[in-house]
Amino acid sequence: MNKMELLNEDKKRLWHPCSQMKDYEAYPARLIERAEGVWLYEAGGRRILDAVSSWWCKIFGHGNPHIRARINEQLEKLEHVIFANYTHEPAIELAQRLGGLFSDRLPRVFYTDNGSSAVEAALKISFQYWRNRGRPERNLFVHIRGAYHGETVGALSVGSLGLYRDTFKPLLFKAVEAEGPDCYRCPFGLNRTTCDAECFTSMENALEENNGHVGAVIIEPVLQAANGMALYSPRYLVKLSDACRRSGVHLIFDEIASGMGRTGKMMACDHASIVPDIALVSKALTGGFLSLAAVLTNGEIYDAFYTDYTESKAFLHSHTYTGNPLACAAACGVFDLFDDPSVLPGVLETGSLIRDKALAIADHPHVGEVRSLGMVTAIELVADKRAKEPYAWKERTGYRVYRKAERDGVLLRNLGDVLYFFPPYIINGGEIDFMVETAINAVKYVAGK
Ligand code: PMP
Repeated sequence: MNKMELLNEDKKRLWHPCSQMKDYEAYPARLIERAEGVWLYEAGGRRILDAVSSWWCKIFGHGNPHIRARINEQLEKLEHVIFANYTHEPAIELAQRLGGLFSDRLPRVFYTDNGSSAVEAALKISFQYWRNRGRPERNLFVHIRGAYHGETVGALSVGSLGLYRDTFKPLLFKAVEAEGPDCYRCPFGLNRTTCDAECFTSMENALEENNGHVGAVIIEPVLQAANGMALYSPRYLVKLSDACRRSGVHLIFDEIASGMGRTGKMMACDHASIVPDIALVSKALTGGFLSLAAVLTNGEIYDAFYTDYTESKAFLHSHTYTGNPLACAAACGVFDLFDDPSVLPGVLETGSLIRDKALAIADHPHVGEVRSLGMVTAIELVADKRAKEPYAWKERTGYRVYRKAERDGVLLRNLGDVLYFFPPYIINGGEIDFMVETAINAVKYVAGK
C-alpha cells in the first residue's frame, strides 16, 4: 500500500490512544517508516525530532544497536515461554540487575507487561499482604493530588487527574487523597529548592485520621510526570518515608516515568536517599523496544505470601506475557549501557544545556514557569503570569503549540498547557538547539511574541 492508502486504512480502522479521533480530520496520524537516534522518519522522507522519547521510554534513542543485538540474540533461542513454573536466563539476569537499583533492599521481582499492570499488581500485593498478615482492615490506599499511575481501573482509583478519571468515577474504589506539593503555585509562598515540604501536613493528617486502616501510600517520587511535569522537593519524600515507617504503612514508589536516569539519578528516589517497600519500573526499562514492567518488593512483603499452598496466601496474579524473554533481554541491554559510568553525568550535562536554552523564554508574558531536573525541562503556559492564572482549557493553547512545533519538525506532545522536553539521553548539541528553538518559536506563534 502507498502512503495515502495506508492513511486511509488507518482512518477507517484504527482507534488511537489518548486521542479525540475527530482531531485526526485536521491532523491525520503521521506515518512513521523508520527511526534512528532522536529522529522519526515519515513515509516520504520528512523527519521529526522525538522530544518526548515516544511517551518517555526511548532513553537511548531509536534503533540502539546494542539493545537490538541483545533482542536478536535472544530471538534465536527463545522468544516466549510460560513464566509460571518455568524460567529463563534473561529474566534471572534482569532480576539481579533490578535488585541493584535499590542496593538489594528490594530483592524480589514480579514482572508484568506495562506500567498500569505493574501498578495494579503492586496495589494487590500490598492489599493481600495485610490480609495474609491478619490485618484486613488495612485496606485503604492514600495518594496525593496530581497523582497519575496509569489508566486501568485500579490505577485510576489512586490517581487524581480529572481528565482521565472523572468519567469513570462510579467504577473506582475508594482511596484517600492528600494535598500534594504544588510548587509552582505553592500556598505557603515557598520555593521547592529551599522549602521544608511544609505541605506535608495534609498527608500527615490523612495518615492520622485513617490510622490503622491505611495499607499503603503510592506516589511518584520528585517528578509528577503526567501532572504537567510537576517537580517537588525530596524533603517531602523524607517526611513521607518517616511517617509511613511510624504508622507501619507500605510506601510504594511509582518510578515508571521518573526511573532509569531521567531525573539525573538512576532512580528519582535517590534524590532523597530513600528505598520504598515496593517500587515500580517500566517505560525506559527496555529502552522503549518492548513492553515490560517490574514490581520490586522487600523480603518482608514476599515472606507474607510464602507458605503452604493450602493456606491460600499465594499471589495468584498473572499476565500471559509475564517475564517475556525478548523484553527481559532488551532490558538487560539497557543495563549494559548504564554500565558506562559516563551515562548519568551525561544526562545532567545534556539536561542543563536544554534547561539553559529553554530559560530564554522564561520572561515571556505567558510563560508561568520553566522548571527542570535532569533530562526533563517543562514550560508552563498561563493566561496571566502574575496571577498564575491558567488559560481556559477549551482554548487548547498547549495543543496548538504542539501542532505548530510538529509542523516545524519537533514532536512536543503537550500535557494541557505544559510543553516539555523529555528527549533521548543521546540528543546532541545541534539537535538541542533545533528542538528548543522550534519549541520557543511555536510558543511565540501561539501565545504572542
Ligand atoms: N505510572 C506513571 C508514573 C506513568 O507515567 C505511567 C504512564 N504514563 C503509568 C504509570 C502507566 O504506564 P503504562 O502507560 O505503561 O500503562
